[in-house]
Amino acid sequence: MIQIQRREQFTKAAERASKEKLSVRRYEPHVYEVTNKAKAHTYLVRFEQRHGQVFGTCTCEAGTPTRGKRVPMVCKHLFAAVLFVRAVRQMRQAAH
Ligand SMILES: [Zn+2]
Repeated sequence: MIQIQRREQFTKAAERASKEKLSVRRYEPHVYEVTNKAKAHTYLVRFEQRHGQVFGTCTCEAGTPTRGKRVPMVCKHLFAAVLFVRAVRQMRQAAH
């Protein structure tokens, strides 16, 4: 699980995400399905609020490592989901 705070957290993920065709759709409340169209991989990104802070988890190996030091990273899927959520929020605000 990763606390989402700073824009800089996403710099590397943004570089990686821009090289791949990722599509995002809402899966269930606070859960987004991120599909890498080129590789046909699908991961689920989940957002949680705890004590007013937002945390994100991705089911991929980078987001939820099962080997090595097990330190979760901000992966491109998490980044893509954050962008998606922001875009939806902005559309809603624009509609009001
Ligand atoms: Zn991921």
